[in-house]
Amino acid sequence: MSASVFSTGITRRSFAASTIAGLAALPLRARAAANIEALAVTCIDYRLVDDAIRFLDDERHLRKEFDLVALAGASLAAVAPAFPASGAAFWDHVAIAKQLHNIQRVVLLDHRDCGAYKVQFGSRFADDGSAELEQHRGIMRLVAAEFERRKIDLPLEFYLMALDGKAEPVPV
Ligand SMILES: [Zn+2]
Repeated sequence: MSASVFSTGITRRSFAASTIAGLAALPLRARAAANIEALAVTCIDYRLVDDAIRFLDDERHLRKEFDLVALAGASLAAVAPAFPASGAAFWDHVAIAKQLHNIQRVVLLDHRDCGAYKVQFGSRFADDGSAELEQHRGIMRLVAAEFERRKIDLPLEFYLMALDGKAEPVPV
């Protein structure tokens, strides 16, 4: 009884057709919101979920203007050997947000004391101050290079949030 949806008579073609029919039936107001400003990528960490939304809504002025992906490590998820499935999800969602909502940039919000960075770096995890910032910056540079390698032409903004909810921009 474990047959997948796609092997039980719903072909990819009919699935796509019914999805498009569903979109056409959406009220005009919902469809009018198809173009938005950004895709935001945050960590999953429960301590900072509210601060991350507040930062995006109020400080970045992106209320109702961002798609949201939460993956452990945020920037790290895109490139970490420790989390290959997160990497696949990251790049899939960049493509989906581009296609569905014509996003104009990607905002990546890492945070200090991140458990995913601890997993990836183990004893080399930099746990505070400027060393921690540089560890994040190193990952962010890899992410920027990967966007370039994949020929995804979107401006990137990187931030590092402290546990008190204050975020600083990280130029890469
Ligand atoms: Zn984290």
